[in-house]
Amino acid sequence: MIKIFKFGGAALGNVERIRALCEIIQNEEYDRLVIVCSAFQNVTNELTALAKSYYQHKENTLEDFHKLKAKHHQVLDHLVPNRQDLQDDLNDLFMETEWFIEDQPEEDFSYSLDQILVTGEIISSRIVSHFLNQQSIDNNWVDIRDYIITDNKYNNANVLWTETEMRLKKLWDNHTSKILVTQGFIASSTENFSTTLGREGSDYTASILSSRLQADSVTFWKDVPGIMSSDPKLDMGATKLKKLSYEEAIEMTYYGAKVIHPKTIKPIIKQEIPFFVKSFLHPNELGTTISSEENLEYPPLTVIKKDQSVLIFKTKDYSHISSKDSSRIFDSLANNHVKANLIMTKAREIIICLDHNEAVINEIKETLNNHYNINIHMNLRLTTVRHYTANTLDELKMKSIKYQMQDGTTLQYLCSD
Ligand code: ASP
Ligand code: MG
Repeated sequence: MIKIFKFGGAALGNVERIRALCEIIQNEEYDRLVIVCSAFQNVTNELTALAKSYYQHKENTLEDFHKLKAKHHQVLDHLVPNRQDLQDDLNDLFMETEWFIEDQPEEDFSYSLDQILVTGEIISSRIVSHFLNQQSIDNNWVDIRDYIITDNKYNNANVLWTETEMRLKKLWDNHTSKILVTQGFIASSTENFSTTLGREGSDYTASILSSRLQADSVTFWKDVPGIMSSDPKLDMGATKLKKLSYEEAIEMTYYGAKVIHPKTIKPIIKQEIPFFVKSFLHPNELGTTISSEENLEYPPLTVIKKDQSVLIFKTKDYSHISSKDSSRIFDSLANNHVKANLIMTKAREIIICLDHNEAVINEIKETLNNHYNINIHMNLRLTTVRHYTANTLDELKMKSIKYQMQDGTTLQYLCSD
């Protein structure tokens, strides 16, 4: 039985959590296991900030880098005390990034960002691997950049499937241990430069590996008991879903649910590899199973997106909205690489809701000002309820709703944030 375990930043948040990870590895059953690690909690954000200050030639760049380095050295020292050889090993890995930021920045920021971002996952996975070895859990550390190959669309690279598949076929033969520890999120271009798969991309890596290694299951170890019916931070009544279909997971991620990375389902859907979402704090509790099982009963599933802006495009000459208007407006969204979170059409208006981004809104306004009167509402909150009930609709009456749209299964509305 081949299993893939993905541990996100929260699961690697501190020394205790890495110890808990080790217990999970000891208690679970498998013939072969691939452990996919994210960077430690918040490290990808810190590295992004570092890349920006490097790019702007800020003086504190190296100092910030050394702080980040020290933080990782401390974790390793807590887990595996007094091992200078392992500390040296970490230093060697950090060296590449250090050389990179000592050089003059290249013109392409997204290229530089990726060369710096990979440090987070390389180092976290190495620390996990050293610690497991120290606990006599024999494992091999794998640089996933030797196996997952992408184009050079930095920050959001596309997997080159044929090359990746060919390389992954040799993965087990290239290693002696039945446990492999590797990185999520990062990959390599054919020219051997580091690339990344988009923020929160570690889930996607777990899915790529499971599909190409014919895994029996993937477990996402998280700091929540499973996938919840709504955000527990905003809703006391949030409940855990025992089961979710691939279809429903795709729907929920489309509306902004942070279930798993939106690209995650596609690679495994044909092979029907089940996904388990479980809490690393309570590993014996059942989490959520995402599988091909259809016709499941769901409670209302709520997804909230804050900081939304609505753009209203109204024809200037009293004409009806035509397909030409739609295509013009959607082209402008596409040119700005933005996705509409809600679209409504009226006789003379197209109404579009977007994640707020001032630069993008200005750009769209500038391009389309000639054709339409454009009005903008900001600071809105978009709520999507899948499988809404009569109760959901009743509760709506108490809210002051600016826009509302619904079909048989999905209700969406916008209120002030
Ligand atoms: N470390 C990356 C990020 O924070 C990837 C991941 O955690 O999935 O986006
Ligand atoms: Mg994450």
